[in-house]
Amino acid sequence: MKSIYGLTLEDMENYFVEHGSKKFHAGQLFSWLYEKRIKSYDEITNIKKEVLSSLEKDYSIKSLQIVDVQEDVDVCKYLFELYDGEHIEAVLMRHDYGNSVCISSQVGCNMGCKFCESGRRRKVRNLETYEMVLQLLMIEETLGERISHVVVMGIGEPFDNYDNLLNFFSIINHPKGLAIGARHITVSTCGLVPKILEFSEFPLQINLAISLHAPNNKLRDKIMPINKAYPLEELIKAIKHYLKKTNRRITFEYILLKDVNDSPECALELVQLVKGINCYINLIPYNETNNIDFKRTNTIQIMRFYDILKKNNINVTIRKEFGSKISAACGQLRSKKEDL
Ligand code: SAH
Repeated sequence: MKSIYGLTLEDMENYFVEHGSKKFHAGQLFSWLYEKRIKSYDEITNIKKEVLSSLEKDYSIKSLQIVDVQEDVDVCKYLFELYDGEHIEAVLMRHDYGNSVCISSQVGCNMGCKFCESGRRRKVRNLETYEMVLQLLMIEETLGERISHVVVMGIGEPFDNYDNLLNFFSIINHPKGLAIGARHITVSTCGLVPKILEFSEFPLQINLAISLHAPNNKLRDKIMPINKAYPLEELIKAIKHYLKKTNRRITFEYILLKDVNDSPECALELVQLVKGINCYINLIPYNETNNIDFKRTNTIQIMRFYDILKKNNINVTIRKEFGSKISAACGQLRSKKEDL
């Protein structure tokens, strides 16, 4: 059965009109779901009973199940069980500027990045829009606080689940939905070029982050198989197109992997690669996982890499680390649960 949390406002408007009712009920229903946070259709008082009972037949109002929670200072990780018994994760990070949640977009992932725990399990299926929306709703409910920022950087490749992702954005951004500002939402992709081009046309001003992780094709081919399909020249070209269309800035994520991509030469090559692009680079200390051999670059070398970028006038930050104690790296909690 479909879920009511997968419907955009427009979908609901169409539903009401198709059922001989009024369009404006869509706004009312949104506010019952996302402002009043009802748990049952019975709580709705301003929509006719017949319409509600057909709604109830067509769309479930059920939540997901949270089956595990792991807490550390400033970070909390939630394991969700889906209707088909699959598991996905979301991570809450408490920043000084608000609560940020990292959500998953697929069960498993087909991108096969060598350093990533999630990719050890092939994609089983895309998450439905409602499964993305409910990750946020349920964390807000458990926490008793609002989520101010959302990043789509959990399990999965969001641009490989493009249509559901855009519906998700439209629901959480809507003033009557979760009302999370587009500029507070970030989506990260490993570089699906056709989708980056398509995303240039998307009207909401959502932040785009690119998982770069290597400054040349030879190295990127080795750690990110997607690079064989869309090599750096094509990726950079798509990014330039996106920047021209949207007038925005792009983020490059760069995980530092010991003795793989963390040399001063790599830093200089990276400078050349992003020269002239309106971007900033987010250096990510690698979160080591038991199942994969990559090691984390030590702090002194991270600083050295950072300095080289800085001296070359690149906007660069080092990502604040959350949750290495609670297996917060992408896919780690699910792996533990399912003993993979
Ligand atoms: N598929 C998307 C989004 C999910 S991964 C993408 O590739 O961007 C989110 C980010 O976490 C990516 O930059 C990914 O490369 C990074 N990541 C994966 N495993 C990690 C680990 N063990 N430590 C640090 N970052 C990791």
